[in-house]
Amino acid sequence: MSLAAHDRTTLGAWLTARGESPTHAGRLLRAYYGGGGVFDPDALSIGKTLQTTLRHEHFPAATFVRDRVVSSDGTTKLLLGLRRGGAIETVMMPSYRAGEAWCCVSSQLGCAMGCDFCASTRSGLDRNLEVDEIVEQFVHVTRVAAEHGRRVRRLVFMGIGEPMHNLDNVLTAINHIAGQGLGGLGWSRITVSTVGIVQGIERMARSEHPPFLALSLHAPDDETRARIVPTGKRYDVATILAAAREYQERTGRIVTIEYCLLAGVNDSEAQADLLAQRLEGFRAHVNVIPYNATGPGLSGMVYMRPTTTGVTRFLERLRSRGVVAHARDTRGDDVAAACGQLRDADRDAAQASAK
Ligand code: SAH
Repeated sequence: MSLAAHDRTTLGAWLTARGESPTHAGRLLRAYYGGGGVFDPDALSIGKTLQTTLRHEHFPAATFVRDRVVSSDGTTKLLLGLRRGGAIETVMMPSYRAGEAWCCVSSQLGCAMGCDFCASTRSGLDRNLEVDEIVEQFVHVTRVAAEHGRRVRRLVFMGIGEPMHNLDNVLTAINHIAGQGLGGLGWSRITVSTVGIVQGIERMARSEHPPFLALSLHAPDDETRARIVPTGKRYDVATILAAAREYQERTGRIVTIEYCLLAGVNDSEAQADLLAQRLEGFRAHVNVIPYNATGPGLSGMVYMRPTTTGVTRFLERLRSRGVVAHARDTRGDDVAAACGQLRDADRDAAQASAK
């Protein structure tokens, strides 16, 4: 089992079973996370017998770096092979702050949500990722960031998959990534993004250390939302916004409303006005993501990114109604690491080479 799957208690039990003191667990985990997943048992003061045990009994990693693509803006996409089968992607984004980086992780192998503008969902869902497969994404990115002289300061579940459909593993992975003596990132540096699964939002709100919540809303009216986000048929906008408000109130954390801006679909002034109205009195920030073209949607619809003026107009309209709104710049475009583009290129390449 990978060290990423362990915490001090389980690793302590592993050590005890081998006649070692469980107190070494802390040192091993610190070495693991501190070394970006790589450490030399012989360099640790853990005694000769444990060093020998560790030389013979490895903690096999759940993932391995198969490929790495660096974009002109420094965004680095890692293609990770999974020992249990399949491949995922994870992204290291250099922050504008010197010495800092962001990490974007996936929670599932594929995605069942079917959002029409998102490339990650086109082949459906293969399976949920295990705890170590999630944590190791962070560990790899930590190492890559260190090579660039940066430290991971924020981690977002905005890669592939719907975290609320794998919530047990996501919450355990978060505890490993955030916990002192483990990844050490802290819960207030982690954001979980959801398409709006109400039960998941409620459960995460009640978890011991709730992270930040991002809600992929994409439309303020049910009709538009149901067209682009199929789960919108199950949960209406009012219900998911109520769950997000409740999350904000319970956790004290400002909620991010993600809004993928699609020209002629969800970018009208009336939609900006309705969004502002629905967010009244809600401590939320709107993050407008100009659409990254990913080919026709499952419905056959071809979406377009609005012009820069169109994006500004939408933002200004929201701001004029008292909403805090920003546009996310689309990083990593040239290596297909931008939102909604992960994994596809690899699969396309694999299919092409199989032909
Ligand atoms: N299932 C979760 C996690 C995925 S996060 C969720 O829906 O929130 C991925 C984010 O990128 C979401 O906000 C999603 O809507 C957005 N996104 C997906 N495809 C995109 C595209 N082609 N262009 C811009 N943003 C996109």
